Amino acid sequence: MTMTWLVALSGVLGLAVGSFLNVCIYRLPLEQSLAFPASHCTSCNRKLSWFENVPVLAWVLLRGRCRTCHASISVVYPLVELFTGVMFAFAAWHYGPGLLLVSRLLLGCMLIVLFFIDLRHRILPNVITVGGTVIGFIFSFVTPPGWVSSLIGLVIGGLIPFLLAEAYFRLRKIEGLGMGDVKMLALIGAFLGWQLVLLTLAVASILGSLVGLALIAARRGDMKLALPFGTFLAIAAMFAAAVGEPIVKWYVGFYR
Ligand SMILES: [Zn+2]
Repeated sequence: MTMTWLVALSGVLGLAVGSFLNVCIYRLPLEQSLAFPASHCTSCNRKLSWFENVPVLAWVLLRGRCRTCHASISVVYPLVELFTGVMFAFAAWHYGPGLLLVSRLLLGCMLIVLFFIDLRHRILPNVITVGGTVIGFIFSFVTPPGWVSSLIGLVIGGLIPFLLAEAYFRLRKIEGLGMGDVKMLALIGAFLGWQLVLLTLAVASILGSLVGLALIAARRGDMKLALPFGTFLAIAAMFAAAVGEPIVKWYVGFYR
């Protein structure tokens, strides 16, 4: 199979998977089953016909409204599908066929779901963070970064932020980092290894500070407006998975 075909097929598969990620984003926080009932309009409960389930295209053709009750359908749905499709195509091109591609696609899907659930509900479900940590560690026996780096990564990802959060809590009596964030870091560490989880933490902190400063500058520095840290972790982990390796090599070379 040529590379062009692999990238195209992966992109189309990504659009379909994005549809399923929408179901996860919507139902996981409500503790509903992912399989039943079948996709339906959340406003009038009518079961969707096959063409209304076509990723992106259905939303565009229906102009973002339900066919029967005319309730508006959030633009987040097609955006999740589109982004998942682009992520699948990019990963296929970047990693090529193999188990590493499968592992990175799984991580990417989990990060997309965590990003939107944290943004909407300010929670990071254990099903994904803890379950994903186990899956990431298992994959590390047959893919990079290898099980040793993965194990150190999940310990560093989980332990150091936990100790920092404890210290911060004892000093300031405010929760700086939630347990959900700590488990999400363990997940990222298990998949990407200890070097890239540290890079993820650094990039997420910088991103978080920049957005915080921008909000203060815009005189909207209300803590309630600040974005949850899990959303920054998701963006930073995608960045680390895509371009982290050369950055780590450059950084290590710098101190040699
Ligand atoms: Zn409807």
